[in-house]
Amino acid sequence: MAKEDIKYDVAVIGGGPAGIMASCIAAESGAKTILIERNKQLGKKLLLTGNGRCNLTNAEFNLRKLVESYGKGGEFLFHAFSVFGPKETVNFFEEIGVETKIENNKRVFPVRGKAEGVLKALEKYLAETNVEIIFDSEVVDVEFKNKKISKIILKEGEVTAKKYILCLGGKSYSLTGSDGIGYKIAEKLGHTIIKPKPALSPIKLKDLFIKDLQGISLEDIKVSVFQNGLPAQAGEKQVQEEGEIMFTHYGISGPAILNISGRVGELLDSGLPAQAGEVKICFDLFPLLNQEQLSKVFDDMLKKHPNKTIKNILSISLPERLAEVLSDIAVKDNKKIANNMSKPERLAVVKILKNFEVTAQELVGFEGAMVTKGGVSLKEIDHKTMKSKIIDNLFFAGEIIDIDGKTGGFNLQSCWSTGYLAGKSAGTK
Ligand SMILES: Cc1cc2nc3c(=O)[nH]c(=O)nc-3n(C[C@H](O)[C@H](O)[C@H](O)COP(=O)(O)OP(=O)(O)OC[C@H]3O[C@@H](n4cnc5c(N)ncnc54)[C@H](O)[C@@H]3O)c2cc1C
Repeated sequence: MAKEDIKYDVAVIGGGPAGIMASCIAAESGAKTILIERNKQLGKKLLLTGNGRCNLTNAEFNLRKLVESYGKGGEFLFHAFSVFGPKETVNFFEEIGVETKIENNKRVFPVRGKAEGVLKALEKYLAETNVEIIFDSEVVDVEFKNKKISKIILKEGEVTAKKYILCLGGKSYSLTGSDGIGYKIAEKLGHTIIKPKPALSPIKLKDLFIKDLQGISLEDIKVSVFQNGLPAQAGEKQVQEEGEIMFTHYGISGPAILNISGRVGELLDSGLPAQAGEVKICFDLFPLLNQEQLSKVFDDMLKKHPNKTIKNILSISLPERLAEVLSDIAVKDNKKIANNMSKPERLAVVKILKNFEVTAQELVGFEGAMVTKGGVSLKEIDHKTMKSKIIDNLFFAGEIIDIDGKTGGFNLQSCWSTGYLAGKSAGTK
């Protein structure tokens, strides 16, 4: 097929989740639609989602609660969710042959447990809706005049259409195809780009003991962020999460860490640590007990095991290597047995169990971040249609927009929802 001088109703640029959804819906609405993808296949990032299992949405059907998982982007998304939210997404996937199940924290996965199956079903749907797809076609530039895109320039050839939907993704995991060019194109068209930063990223730590903890994962941990000894805020709320954490050779990861990482990145960026203060991450290892209750449990254990060292007592309920690190930090003489422990030493141990503190160095960066924070400013997109307020025949969908959510299926959900709305708005004559 010659790529030159072809006229379409809608050209969708970027074949990730947002672009696939937008193309199908535009085509289903009656538009002659083309989908342009730089890779030899669609959805390279989609295949990585949920460790290859694809956590395709979150079954939070209360939309007011749902939007809380997107920070400031939540209000913008409310309309998109009311048109095509998690309920509609689950129904959509069931209809195209992807049976779903709900796991813990309302995370929705395909019953067959494979992202590949999700992609195959979407590809079948693209074929059924007659979306034309061109692979191996990299968009390198765009031409526009009088507030209208006239053509998009590919590495080889060009494409013209009445309307365009930009779904070029963010900047993370660039090997999947999304390397931030979408921001450059949107900027050229006059859009403001909120500085892209890695989010849902593992965090590197300064503490040397961290390498001794590599591989340990803990569930139901309360994680809080402090700077200058004060609780860090995100809007009105303290930056706090509860859930699983994992220690790696350089720092920490796991859902609870990924969810606070965006704010930690902002705090680290906010000035030199000497001025702004180190960013501390505190773990409450026993969040169900307050300090007093934990002291009592601990005292009872000391009485029960009078000849055991503190490390061995902590090892009863914590992984041994963590018990060793904690006892090293809390008591100077960690060979001391329970019977010989002073009251201040007992208090120091309880304190560290409630407040195990580590120091953030930096986020792992875009290559390790699941999503990008920042992107095309929400102020310049109509939240009811996903239409640009600057260019008359341009729409946006997916991660290219300044939206990021927590882990748990929220990021794909915003792609399905904005993709649906953009496809419907652009595709309807
Ligand atoms: C490891 C990992 C696991 C994840 N797991 C989950 C999960 O379980 N649940 C969840 O909700 N979210 C998850 N996410 C986030 C989710 O995958 C993304 O938010 C989502 O893929 C964004 O979709 P998108 O369509 O906006 O962009 P992308 O998926 O990035 O797609 C953009 C597409 O545009 C194409 N493109 C880029 N530049 C050009 C160009 N110049 N010309 C033509 N084509 C171009 C790219 O090749 C790509 O195919 C995960 C992310 C990662 C990295």
